[in-house]
Amino acid sequence: MAHGTFGTAINCMDGRVQEPVTRWLKETYGLDYVDMITEPGPEKVLAEGGPQTAAFLAKARISVQAHGSRVLAIVAHDDCAGNPVSPDVHQAQVRQAMEVLRGWGLHVQVIGLWVDAQWQVQPVGD
Ligand SMILES: [Zn+2]
Repeated sequence: MAHGTFGTAINCMDGRVQEPVTRWLKETYGLDYVDMITEPGPEKVLAEGGPQTAAFLAKARISVQAHGSRVLAIVAHDDCAGNPVSPDVHQAQVRQAMEVLRGWGLHVQVIGLWVDAQWQVQPVGD
């Protein structure tokens, strides 16, 4: 098992959201590191059962099994080029994606996050 505490985020590839999401997860969960799995608009992929879903699971499993990650976040953000929909739709997709992640049976806490137009990170409730 790796040293330090890990979390995992399935996040957009957008360079504007990497640091805010990493910082928020470290501060909120007291983590040392955040493993980042990136894709354009990953909440849309998961909500719609897109073909990248299996790769997300394989990567998340590595993070949990090798690093002992204890929290798995699905992230959506404002002004997303990969998924240009309204904030309401993003957040609905995050909720759907959370159900998918919970179905993976990885024994981690699953959370949803929204990064707003000011690049502030906010939890998305169930
Ligand atoms: Zn994006």
